[in-house]
Amino acid sequence: MTARPLGTEVSCDGPDEATDCPNSAAVLASFTSMTAPQVRADGAHDGWTTRRRRGRLRDLCPACRTRS
Ligand SMILES: [Zn+2]
Repeated sequence: MTARPLGTEVSCDGPDEATDCPNSAAVLASFTSMTAPQVRADGAHDGWTTRRRRGRLRDLCPACRTRS
């Protein structure tokens, strides 16, 4: 059994509103990152970004970020 942190999972919302992430990517968070802002900070190191879309915050993995 693999130990997993119990923190927030931040997963990719896909390159646009109608498209899911082709990789079903999720941020590989540090063990100490428990909150969404902390996890997003981890993701930023790997090229993740966030974008506001219709007033909601969307997470984009590096692959999806470059597609839109
Ligand atoms: Zn993605």
